[in-house]
Amino acid sequence: MRGSISYDAVIVGAGPAGLLCGRLMVEKGYRVLVIEARPEIDDKVCGAYLCPAGVELLKAMDLLPAMESLFEPVHGMILSSPDGQLLQTYFAGADARRTGCHPYGLSLDRRRFDGFLAGDYLHSGGELIFGQRLIALAQTSLGWSLKTSGGYAISTALLIGADGRKSVVSRHLGLSRSMPHRRLAVHATLQSIKANPRMGEMHLFDAADYIGLNPVDDGLVNVSWVCRKEDLEGQSSSSALRRRIQQSPNLRNRFAWYAKVETQVTCPITHRVRGCVGPQAALIGDASGFVDPLTGEGIYVALKTASMLVACLPGPANQTQTALARSLRAYQQQRRLDLASKAIISRIFQHMIHRPKWCNRLRHYLAGSSTRGDAFIGLIGNVSRPGRAIWNMALS
Ligand SMILES: Cc1cc2nc3c(=O)[nH]c(=O)nc-3n(C[C@H](O)[C@H](O)[C@H](O)COP(=O)(O)OP(=O)(O)OC[C@H]3O[C@@H](n4cnc5c(N)ncnc54)[C@H](O)[C@@H]3O)c2cc1C
Repeated sequence: MRGSISYDAVIVGAGPAGLLCGRLMVEKGYRVLVIEARPEIDDKVCGAYLCPAGVELLKAMDLLPAMESLFEPVHGMILSSPDGQLLQTYFAGADARRTGCHPYGLSLDRRRFDGFLAGDYLHSGGELIFGQRLIALAQTSLGWSLKTSGGYAISTALLIGADGRKSVVSRHLGLSRSMPHRRLAVHATLQSIKANPRMGEMHLFDAADYIGLNPVDDGLVNVSWVCRKEDLEGQSSSSALRRRIQQSPNLRNRFAWYAKVETQVTCPITHRVRGCVGPQAALIGDASGFVDPLTGEGIYVALKTASMLVACLPGPANQTQTALARSLRAYQQQRRLDLASKAIISRIFQHMIHRPKWCNRLRHYLAGSSTRGDAFIGLIGNVSRPGRAIWNMALS
């Protein structure tokens, strides 16, 4: 066992939520440690599209110039309904001018994006240890004591769970809601036959499964297929993905299948919680709740909840237990106010994808006017608030 060490705040998980939260807390004067189970920053199963509201957040954190030099823009989304009809939509045509939101998203590479955030956090003065999985947690009179897989014993006044959809912290705090996990995601990077448009794509199918595409560069496309576990039975994930793509008239001639395609599979793809704070503890990012990858806003929510939490915290000098409890309650309330209406919309979409006829009708309705389609993609990309976006759709 290594010696015991103590920090003002310990963040579990070095994803976008944990790393941005770490940087903002160091700037607020906290002594922060991030612990990460993986041995290094690596790729993740993720469509890696950052919605315009996420880009806007990067701008507010002074990170946009560097990010724009690393990553290409995504100008909108091509939506394909289960009947195979296409609809092209643009973020710039949504309410961006009125809301002041950035008019395009970014196509990230998760290893480089998370790596950049890690460098930014370390540069701010925070500490990060890799290869340390949180394995035990206990509440103490001063806060929390943690044990890691590599034998560290750590104590902290404030524990932050940024440990993703399988969050150990949320389970330990009794905040995770158990639910059956019937769906999984298959992920691959495929070689495109033609140059990619700088557009994301979402292809919905009759069996309530869907494929999201994000152009990595001219030649490569990030492909995520969300399907039922039964869709893989009796075949490898790469054969199942290839078969699914070849069944779609819009996708079958898009990719070159030169060699065996490397796929990654992940499950669960959702995470429900009862709340996002506990005694001297808070959850951010996917750990604080994740509906499904359909609307492609997980990274935005990770960055948003991180900045929201730090804005509510009192600063280490004023961090009495009472002040901390008050600020954690404020964070929980703020998270609900800001994100609950979109989470409801995302759940409605989850019901809709099980009803292909409804999806076909929605595409048909959106195709009735280009501003309607753009208002819809503004809703998905968080360019405008749900009420406003629905109002814009109704007016167009
Ligand atoms: C198929 C799929 C496609 C997606 N596509 C998109 C998309 O296009 N756009 C988008 O915005 N979002 C997308 N998402 C969601 C996005 O990937 C997540 O919302 C985002 O990564 C959340 O960031 P985070 O920091 O909360 O968690 P994560 O990025 O998951 O980071 C959590 C970290 O915690 C670490 N960890 C876990 N347990 C422990 C432990 N016990 N001890 C120490 N460390 C631990 C993990 O190793 C990990 O590095 C997609 C998700 C899926 C499944």
